[in-house]
Parts: sequence; C-alpha cells; structure tokens
Amino acid sequence: MRRPMVVANWKMYTRASDAYILANMVRDKVAGIDGVEVVICPPIVWLSEIAEIVKRDGKVSAGAQNMYHEEEGPFTGEVSPLMIRDIAKYVIVGHSERRDHFSESNMLVNEKVLAALKHGLSPIICVGEKTKSAPISFVVKQLKDALAHVSKKEYQNIVIAYEPVWAVGTHQPSSVEHTEKTTVTLREIVGREVTMLYGGSVNHTEAEKFVKSQVDGLLVGGASLHASRFIDIVKIWAEGKSFK
Ligand code: PEP
Repeated sequence: MRRPMVVANWKMYTRASDAYILANMVRDKVAGIDGVEVVICPPIVWLSEIAEIVKRDGKVSAGAQNMYHEEEGPFTGEVSPLMIRDIAKYVIVGHSERRDHFSESNMLVNEKVLAALKHGLSPIICVGEKTKSAPISFVVKQLKDALAHVSKKEYQNIVIAYEPVWAVGTHQPSSVEHTEKTTVTLREIVGREVTMLYGGSVNHTEAEKFVKSQVDGLLVGGASLHASRFIDIVKIWAEGKSFK
C-alpha cells in the first residue's frame, strides 16, 4: 500500500553503544510525529536489539540491510529470511553497494525478492543507473528483472527505492525533475499503489525539495546516522506529505 515513508540505512556504521543510543533517540522523537512510517535498517549484528528498542513505542519498524535467499544451509556468513522475519518487517534488496562490491546480479536480486515475499518480509528494492548519462531503460530492466515471477497481488508488499548510483554517498543528489521522470516510468511497471522512495545524498534540504514531488518517501544513508538530522527529515516528510 502506498504511504509516506522514511527509511534509515545505517550501512556498515555504528558500534553497539552508539547504535542503541541512536535508535532510542529516533524512537523517542518519532513517538510524537504522525503521518509517516519510519524504518531503521541497522547492521545485522544490532538488528535484534534495535528491533526490541523500537518496538517499545510501536511507531518505528526495523529492517535488515540484506539477506541471502536460501532458507538455511552451508552459506557461511549469510543470513536467511527465516532468521530475519521474526525480528524485522523489511529487508533492503539490491542496494547499489551490494551490486557493486559483492557483484549482486539482477537475477540474484530477484531471488532475494521472491524469498523475502515468501517469508512475509517486505523487500525495499533498490534500483538506479550508474552514471548520469545512462538510459532510463537500464533502471527499467533492473526493476523488471527484480520483479520476475512476482504476482501483481504481491506488489502491495513491496517498496521500491530509486537510488541513482551517482547520487548515493556523493553529496550530489538527483534533481526532483530527473527523479520524477524516472519515478513516473517505474510506476508504469508497478502501478499507482506501490510506495516509491528516492535515495541519494538526502539531507533536510533535499527533503524540503522532494516532499512536494511524486516520490512517497526517502531512503536516507549518511544523514540517518545523526539523530537530529534524521528527525528533521522525518518531520519535514510528516508535515509536507499527505495522502489524505
Ligand atoms: C543509501 O545508503 O541508500 C543512501 C541513499 O546513502 P546516502 O544518503 O548517504 O547517499
């Protein structure tokens, strides 16, 4: 179902103590904010604890940053959907850093999407072109491949994050115009009811710019590691985005 949403991707940052402090701060502040779903995706080692922390107030959900598609087996170092589903509601799939550093293919992303849905997890599917001059067909193919064998009925359980790779972690966010153009094209594939996020160097200035756009939510990396910056973004989204 389409809804306003702000997702924090902590990537491979935080030690246990700062992770718990950050999660507590976000939970406490979000408790007073309505109209936006907030998700924290911490490193997997903190996921159980963070899920417990945010559960205490019920407004923030937990998500994993990645998972393997098999249920169990000799896959040293990997985490299965069965392990995540009792703890978290979401799992990020196909993040550009995984595609780049761990050679994740469109086919593997599709296997992860199918496994997530099978086990009741909502995949946050990341797609995005590598360079500014790349054709939109690149992103369209990524999304179509990610959704292979996914029934239309299951679209209500997916979230799509348009994250141009050239904008992620670069302090060079995409423009609203470019993002809307891509978002409209991706909507032709998934329909009007799927929640569509933008991610790529978002801070509060970008949140102000994007809040009036066709994008339903934000996937925030760097700025989500600072409680006050992240909360500012959540507030902007809650105040400016209304599906009423
Ligand atoms: C991300 O990690 O998905 C991301 C968008 O990172 P950043 O906000 O740092 O660009």
